[in-house]
Parts: sequence; C-alpha cells; structure tokens
Amino acid sequence: MINVAIVGYGNLGRGVERSLKQNPDMELVGVFTRRSPETVATEGAAAFHMDDLLSKKADIDVCILCGGSATDLPVQTPEITKNFNTIDSFDTHAKIPEHFAKVDQAAKANQTVSIISTGWDPGLFSLNRLYAQSILPTGETNTFWGKGVSQGHSDALRRIAGVADATQYTIPNNEVIENLKAGEKLELTTRDKHFRECFVVLEEGADAEAIKEEIVTMPNYFSDYDTEVNFVSQEELNRDHKAMPHGGTVLHTGTTGEITNQVIEYTLQLESNPEFTASVLVAYARACVRLAKEEQFGAFTVLDIAPKYLSPLDDATLRKE
Ligand code: NDP
Repeated sequence: MINVAIVGYGNLGRGVERSLKQNPDMELVGVFTRRSPETVATEGAAAFHMDDLLSKKADIDVCILCGGSATDLPVQTPEITKNFNTIDSFDTHAKIPEHFAKVDQAAKANQTVSIISTGWDPGLFSLNRLYAQSILPTGETNTFWGKGVSQGHSDALRRIAGVADATQYTIPNNEVIENLKAGEKLELTTRDKHFRECFVVLEEGADAEAIKEEIVTMPNYFSDYDTEVNFVSQEELNRDHKAMPHGGTVLHTGTTGEITNQVIEYTLQLESNPEFTASVLVAYARACVRLAKEEQFGAFTVLDIAPKYLSPLDDATLRKE
C-alpha cells in the first residue's frame, strides 16, 4: 500500500482525493493545509494543519503537492522535498529549469525523490512532443489548446475595473489542424492557431464598449488573438460557464523518405482539467515511491520516468498483457 498525503486543498487537491478512491494500491493519510483544517471541506479525508506534516513523516510515502504554481510550489516543493518524496504540477514553463535545480538539490541532499511539472502541459504533452520529434526528426510540431477555460486569462478579465466576474475559453482553429493533417506546410502566427472567447459580467454602470476595447487590446493576453467578448448576467455565467473543461492536441506532421506524409496526433478532451491533472499526479506518485525504493534520489520530470513505473501491475504482467 502506498500512503499519500495531499498538501494544499484547492481544485487539484480535491481531484487527488477523488482519484485516490479509484486506485486501490494507494491510501490517503490526510489533507494538509495552511488554513484552519476545520474550515476546509474535504470529501471525507482527515484534514490537518501544515505544521503537523512533519510529525506524520513515518506514515507518509509520498506528498502530492497541490499548491499554485505562481507562489506556492516554488517555495513548498524544495522545502517539503527535504523530508518527503514529492510530486508537483509546476506549470510556469520558463521557470522549470530553475525549479528543477532547487528541488534536485534538496532531494539529493536528503535522499528523497521528487517528480516535478507532472500534469498534461507540462506533462503528458511534453512526453508526446518528445516521442514525435524523436521519431520524425524532420517534422513540425504544433500544440493546440482547448476548447478550455484559461484560468490566467479569466483572472486577467476579472482584474479590469468594471468587471464583476468572467470566464475565458481558448478555442483551437480546427481548420488549421485539418490542413496540417492533410500535409499542408503552413507558416502559422499566434492569431492563426487559437481564438479567445470571453463571457463577462459587468458591474452596475460599467461602460461595456470601453471594457470590450480594453479586453481586445490587452497586450500578452488578447491583442495577438481574434477575441470575442460576450456580456452576460451573473446567473448565466454561473449556470453555463463555471465548469473547468480543457484539453488540446499535440500534432506532429513529418515525412519519411522524400514525400511520405506521417501524422502523429495526441488529443485530450477533459471535462475537468483539475480532476484529470490530479489523476496524472497520482500515477506519477506511484512512480515516485518506486524510484525511492530503488534509491534513485533526486528530481525528475515525466521525461525521465519509464512508463512501467506508472502502472500498479508488475513488469512480468505488463509484458504478458
Ligand atoms: P487553487 O487555487 O484551487 O489551489 C491552490 C492552493 O490555494 C491550494 O493548494 C490551497 O492551499 C489554496 N486554496 C484553495 N482554495 C482556497 C480557498 N478557498 N481559500 C484560501 N486558499 C485556498 O489551484 P488549483 O488547484 O486549481 O491549481 C493548482 C495548480 O495546478 C495551478 O497553479 C497550476 O499551476 C497547476 N496545474 C497544472 C497543470 C498541468 O498540466 N501541469 C494543469 C492544471 C493545473 P491551502 O490548502 O494550503 O490553503
């Protein structure tokens, strides 16, 4: 039995609690939070304060870290890895090498294992890009996201003065995807690959036209895309736009020989981004504990992990099946 602690209980933490119920080789020791444990409504798991984590060290094989990438994980992962094997879903792509170096140092110095940046992107998509580029080195890889809710873009909308609430969907351009699959060679700009669709609730008296203009011209977030802005009531937003679907496609098109087209496509269609991401974390938690048993201490990413380590089945059974 693998004994698991959930550190941080938001969307991802709740998803891990649910996923563990589908993995009979794993047992949940409890949820550890920085808030008062009695204020955290789990779905049955015992909740403890973070300060009690260390006292439970003997009962825990791996901590699944479910904090946010912006400010939680850069601090929590290196710190907790000093005492525990850990998994995280750190997704600030540009800072992964820096995060890896810090966690690797903590893990090697304290003989623990950490698998960082698991999830789907980074994570399963990274793995599929690597497979595709290694197998068809002359090809082109494109990643398309959506249709899905971008938390970052929704937050950016909510920060605009006069906006009460908002949801933003990233939508891939399916025509471009089909053309690439048909073997067309395309020079793609950011605008060609994705659309952005916004559902915005205005505060009373807010100027809709001015807010629309502010959205579509917002640098880094919307100005490089074709963006549609829809104003809706809070009731409509709550009813139709509060789920967290996401997904996307890694598409690699290449040739073998001179002209033989080959297409590799990996697609995820997720009704719940955090619940799926949580399920990836749980599978990699199994790998983490196996690496620790083999005393392969240090930090890893999904690119380092052999697939068999993810499975609850043993090597002989996997070969047979
Ligand atoms: P949340 O904001 O829901 O939770 C983050 C942390 O905030 C929790 O661990 C919790 O810590 C705290 N928190 C949660 N709810 C509350 C609340 N009501 N009041 C105060 N604090 C709260 O983030 P998500 O779980 O949605 O996502 C976590 C991270 O997962 C994201 O930052 C993202 O980087 C990553 N991610 C990665 C993906 C990938 O493919 N690699 C895909 C999806 C997400 P505590 O309990 O200690 O207070």
